[in-house]
Amino acid sequence: DHQIHTVRVCLHDNSNIPRSRYIPTRHFLETMMEGDFTFPSVLFSMDTSAAIQLGAGEGFAGGYPSWILKPDLSTFGILPYSRGTARVIADLYTSSDGKPVSVSPRHVLRRVLEQYEREGYRVRGAFEYEFYVFTKTEKGMQPIWNGLQCFSEVKQAEVEDVLTSIMLALTEMGAYPEVANTEYGSGQFEVTHAPFWGMEIADMAFYYRTSIKEILYKKGYTATFMSKPVASTSGSGSHLNQSLYNESGENLFYDPAKPDGLSDLCRWFIGGQLHHAGALCALTNPTINSYKRLQSYSFAPTTASWGYDHRGAMIRVPHKRGDHTRLENRLPGADTNPYITLAAMLAAGLDGIRNRMEPPGFLKNQDAYIADVQSLPRTLSAALQALEQDELFKEWLGEDFIRHFMTLRYAELDRFNAHVTDWELNEYLDLF
Ligand code: GLU
Ligand code: MG
Ligand code: MG
Repeated sequence: DHQIHTVRVCLHDNSNIPRSRYIPTRHFLETMMEGDFTFPSVLFSMDTSAAIQLGAGEGFAGGYPSWILKPDLSTFGILPYSRGTARVIADLYTSSDGKPVSVSPRHVLRRVLEQYEREGYRVRGAFEYEFYVFTKTEKGMQPIWNGLQCFSEVKQAEVEDVLTSIMLALTEMGAYPEVANTEYGSGQFEVTHAPFWGMEIADMAFYYRTSIKEILYKKGYTATFMSKPVASTSGSGSHLNQSLYNESGENLFYDPAKPDGLSDLCRWFIGGQLHHAGALCALTNPTINSYKRLQSYSFAPTTASWGYDHRGAMIRVPHKRGDHTRLENRLPGADTNPYITLAAMLAAGLDGIRNRMEPPGFLKNQDAYIADVQSLPRTLSAALQALEQDELFKEWLGEDFIRHFMTLRYAELDRFNAHVTDWELNEYLDLF
């Protein structure tokens, strides 16, 4: 009916790289039910040295075999900005025994969500992405607008085409965008969307991010979700709004009998995320660059802290109560994988609930950046050490997954260390 000639069968890998295969519609329809699409497992590693180190792991043994891609048709959608093209998210299974691939982020999240379901909790949430838009000029890549123009009426009118084309396309995709505006940094934007339930929270984040890049690419721009593309201005976060509901649709974070309106369950959930903040930081800030965003006075967190409507804290509890009671975890960078991020947050939160963890690091009218509160890891390697020492995520996300994730992250550190940066030359060349 919609003259679709191509279906993109896509997935997120473990380095947050969206990957896909373009399949002509006829072949898609013939093969879809048989689960005959394949994906080379080696591609999941991005980097060949990491792939070799992972050689003995699940899915990689015996010459990096293919995995089977099974489209999840509930995610099927037509792309409003790419005529004749549709997209569907796929799950990965091994070709040897047809089991879910243990290192696949969507599978990791599904397992955590199944546990929530067994305990009678429904998860509601949304990622809030920030991103920069650049354009190629004679002076290299430059932000498409300049100055202190956050929410600026005049500047937003100038870049209206960017704001409205994103919102219109996302609306057609069923993503329910809510607010779009220019942000703190020159060339930076934020477009938020309505909350979704369970797996759809991450699926929508995946579609959202890739669509924004694709829509702007077609206009000749480069949108980037790297966490800190410009050293001197604000980084890009992907705050994760979260709340739990019971099966009859009641918000479990709300308790009108408490002075602050927050239930014990909500406090413990926050406690769990703060208790595991070091490891959580590695899972939600997975690149070397992510740590350049987590700087003082940037509205990104540097401490394992929480507060009511506090934008310097790691967890901000917005003022809304009743059915809208939620928390906003400000830790994740925009460069993180939404499946891994949500799975890790939920694992930490449930650990908090089960063990009734009181949240440390409460901030009240305090400067979060100088408060006497536990610091977050300042580098990727420090965060990876915290992850290595935290047993919770091995149990919840799987040992295979953690090993795979760490190998890829350490390979990235090795690639970085094989490089001498401009900063080092400026700092040391003359000095030593
Ligand atoms: N850009 C900030 C961050 O990196 C967030 C700013 C805001 O509160 O919108 O998390
Ligand atoms: Mg923002
Ligand atoms: Mg926010």
